[in-house]
Amino acid sequence: MTASYEPNNIFAKILRGEMPCHKVFEDEVALAFMDIMPRAEGHVLVIPKTPARGLLDMPPEALGPYMLRVQKIAAAVNRAMAADGLTIQQFNETAGGQVVFHLHFHILPRHDGVGLRPPGVMGDKAALEANAARIRAAL
Ligand code: 5GP
Repeated sequence: MTASYEPNNIFAKILRGEMPCHKVFEDEVALAFMDIMPRAEGHVLVIPKTPARGLLDMPPEALGPYMLRVQKIAAAVNRAMAADGLTIQQFNETAGGQVVFHLHFHILPRHDGVGLRPPGVMGDKAALEANAARIRAAL
C-alpha cells in the first residue's frame, strides 16, 4: 500500500515559500529549482504544484502538463550548461531511492567522460545561484 501525501515535506514548504530555493522557473503547474546537493553542475529538480508523493498517485490529468514543464526545463538546462547529454531520474518510495516524498524529476546535465558526484554533498551557494541564472536565461 502506498502512504498518503505528507504536506509538511520539504518540497511542499519550498512551494509555499516557507523554505528558500534557487528558483529556475515557476508557473501555475510546476516549480523548478536547483538541487541543494548537486550531483552534477546545473542539477535541477522539477516539481508539480499538484500534491503527489510520486508518479503513481499523480492525477493523470495533471501529469501531461507537468511533463511538458519537465521537458521545457530539461531543454533549458541542456542549452545553459552546454551539456553533451542529460540524465533524468525519478524515484518512488524508500525502496525506489526516494528521500523527499513530493513528486520530482531530477535533470542532470552530463558531459562526455565526467561521472556523477557522490550524493549528500552540499553545493556552493554562489555556484547554485550562478547556475540558476544561466538556466533562467536559457528558458
Ligand atoms: P530523491 O527523493 O529523488 O532521492 O532526492 C531528493 C533530492 O532533493 C536530493 O537530490 C537532495 O539533494 C534534494 N534536496 C533535499 N533537500 C533539499 C532542499 O532543502 N532544497 C533543495 N533545493 N534540494 C533538496
